[in-house]
Amino acid sequence: MTIQISLIGGGLVGSLLSIILARKGYTVDVFESRTDMRKTDISAGRSINLALANRGIKPLQALGLMDDINDMLIPMSGRMVHVDGQTPSLQPYGQSSKEVIYSISRAKLNSYLMSQAEATGRVTFYFEHKITDIDFNSMCFTAGVKELANGQSKVTSKRYSFQRIIGTDGANSPVREAIVDALIEQSGKQSNSTSPFSLSEDMLDHSYKELTIAPTADGQFQLEPNALHIWPRGEFMLIALPNLDASFTATLFMPNKGFTSFDSIRIEDEVQQFFNRHFATATPLLDNLTDSFLQNPTGKLGTIKCSPWQFEDKALIIGDAAHAIVPFHGQGMNCGFEDCDAIASIFPDAKDAEAKADWTALFTQVENMRKENADAIADMALENYIEMRDSVMQHEFLLQKQFAAKIQQSFPNRFTPRYAMVMFEHRPYSEAYRLGEKHKQLLAELSDRYSCPTQLTDDIIESLLDKYQL
Ligand SMILES: Cc1cc2nc3c(=O)[nH]c(=O)nc-3n(C[C@H](O)[C@H](O)[C@H](O)COP(=O)(O)OP(=O)(O)OC[C@H]3O[C@@H](n4cnc5c(N)ncnc54)[C@H](O)[C@@H]3O)c2cc1C
Repeated sequence: MTIQISLIGGGLVGSLLSIILARKGYTVDVFESRTDMRKTDISAGRSINLALANRGIKPLQALGLMDDINDMLIPMSGRMVHVDGQTPSLQPYGQSSKEVIYSISRAKLNSYLMSQAEATGRVTFYFEHKITDIDFNSMCFTAGVKELANGQSKVTSKRYSFQRIIGTDGANSPVREAIVDALIEQSGKQSNSTSPFSLSEDMLDHSYKELTIAPTADGQFQLEPNALHIWPRGEFMLIALPNLDASFTATLFMPNKGFTSFDSIRIEDEVQQFFNRHFATATPLLDNLTDSFLQNPTGKLGTIKCSPWQFEDKALIIGDAAHAIVPFHGQGMNCGFEDCDAIASIFPDAKDAEAKADWTALFTQVENMRKENADAIADMALENYIEMRDSVMQHEFLLQKQFAAKIQQSFPNRFTPRYAMVMFEHRPYSEAYRLGEKHKQLLAELSDRYSCPTQLTDDIIESLLDKYQL
């Protein structure tokens, strides 16, 4: 008997997971509501490009895909911070030239992963299949399927049966909803039951809008390409990541309401005034600014934490479906790829699973390995918004960064800055968070007592590392 797994959602995480499962010998059906992005020029969803870091690279490397993906990458060695009236300055991400993150096109990566999945011969994508209803009693789901009939597009309803389902269907996950419903139904049958599911959805009161910095007339980058550019402005910020065609995708993050907010910028004059006033150096670079600003969608941002991630041996959720986070650490996809890596390490090969897999236990193990870590990166991502839009301009933050670099140079086995632990290492996010809390206290103590890293002797550093048990 072949073991079939249905994935709902063929985004970044679903496409990667389908390759991992297929290589283990499973038959994988991926149901994706959008059209095939390899055939039509559609946006791949939110954020045109994103930052790929070591955690995301690891499973891609394990599958032998990095040779191809390398051609899609632009290394970014640090933040280029643009403060009004000052020359832009590079704040390196790490201590060595290897400590970089990479800008990559979401659509290119997603398309490549889909093609690699199909090349296994075990993965079938069902595009324009929007899953609406999942029934764990009959083990069937319903898909609204877009079809062309007599030149007209119409949606018909189709039923599919499944053996096991994994929701890689993003923040608004219908699989998560089905798990909640099934657990509630089940708990209703038991007396004195407490809530069977915990779910928190915290929408940020800031949103984002994407704009473009086009290449120069002769096809060159208008800004330094090997950096992530930030124009921090306290309550809001503009950032820009490079693309292979020498353009940049710029993203404005700003409050939804208030004096300076998306709500307060509604007409051409207001767009021009806002950008001239706050982003004088970026404004001339932005392509077709007013039309783009007024026409491009404003994207919402939020954090989702939930548990359990599974229903019996029937369903599991991973990626944004289980833990959507705000994008300020550039880790949402990377974290979802780490979920895939966990599954790669836990799930048996299909031939062994046929005889003896305990799927309830396997699904539980995924959540046990990942939940605490997903919660930790969710919290660090929220903190990083303040760092990016505000702290990067503050003297104390910059001084503490210098102290951190000095401590790391002197005691590399005892201290790695939190940003580097998250972006360049594989130690669990929860550990990075826990150590980072100690770092904050240590660095605050140093910046209270000293004004320059040259004042720090090894003895001073060592006694503080001992004090904070690092
Ligand atoms: C502005 C922004 C910038 C970001 N930058 C970064 C970054 O730099 N680095 C990083 O690591 N992460 C970044 N992220 C986060 C990253 O985009 C997500 O974490 C990642 O896309 C999650 O992948 P996923 O496959 O779990 O979900 P998604 O990418 O949301 O994919 C879900 C898929 O499921 C499909 N689907 C949904 N509902 C159904 C249904 N009912 N039936 C069938 N299919 C369905 C969708 O069409 C989609 O294709 C950013 C996010 C935003 C918003």
